[in-house]
Amino acid sequence: MPSLSIADALAYRGQLAALSDSADLDTALLLCHCLNKPRSYLYSWPERELTATEQGQFEALFARRLVGEPIAHILGHRDFWSLSLAVSPASLIPRPDTECLVERALEIIDGQQRPQILDLGTGTGAIALALASERADAQVLGLDCVAEAVALAESNRAALGLTNVRFQQSNWFAELAPSRFELIVSNPPYIDPDDPHLLTGDVRFEPRSALVAADGGMADLKHIISQASNYLAAGGVLLLEHGFQQAAAVREVLSERGFSCVESRRDYGANERISWGVWRNE
Ligand code: GLN
Repeated sequence: MPSLSIADALAYRGQLAALSDSADLDTALLLCHCLNKPRSYLYSWPERELTATEQGQFEALFARRLVGEPIAHILGHRDFWSLSLAVSPASLIPRPDTECLVERALEIIDGQQRPQILDLGTGTGAIALALASERADAQVLGLDCVAEAVALAESNRAALGLTNVRFQQSNWFAELAPSRFELIVSNPPYIDPDDPHLLTGDVRFEPRSALVAADGGMADLKHIISQASNYLAAGGVLLLEHGFQQAAAVREVLSERGFSCVESRRDYGANERISWGVWRNE
């Protein structure tokens, strides 16, 4: 087998161009993983030849990407906020859009002492862990109805050495003991079951339970909004991620349910992505 140079391996990107918006990055990340080197190494040593083992591993991983498997699943991790998180097919792959929810959450609890925070549908634990890592004084509880997701979030917590966050299995609020939080956050499933977007890209490899909700994608958002007031402290905030066309509907449900100061904010792609309301702030 003729050996591949790093430059030859990077040229595999051409095969991915039609399948991935990030063919260059995908190819480079797979190669970095096989060589156990940072990206800068690839561009410093383009003529370096791969060993037979490295080449075999690269070709095997590249073949998985060619059939659409998400890069995060192939590598087994994804960076979110300042954290590297283990991911698995048991939960949603953390998205950059959700960092905008973390930013808003940190603004909301700014100036509060020892805030209690609840993250519903925590998945990898991304939001809960990002908040816990930024605010050592906060106490964060992450809930997920999928046992494997709870185990994954807990192993991410342990790997990061965070002691102010814990995870528990619960279907939304169902298994949660009576308690009050200053902030409840959630990135629930919100995609319409008929959305053609579900047939393309990474979402094909993610659990439907993390993506899809009945009622045009609104069912879980509505359920959370209807229950949250039982678990919010006076002046507490409910902060939700939602689809790019759902902001007006989410604001309406928040207002109908008695939340005040209801607002939305755009993500880095300029889509209205998060909305929030304050519980009885008179
Ligand atoms: N934002 C994700 C997507 O559109 C979906 C995440 C979710 O449903 N919470 O791919």
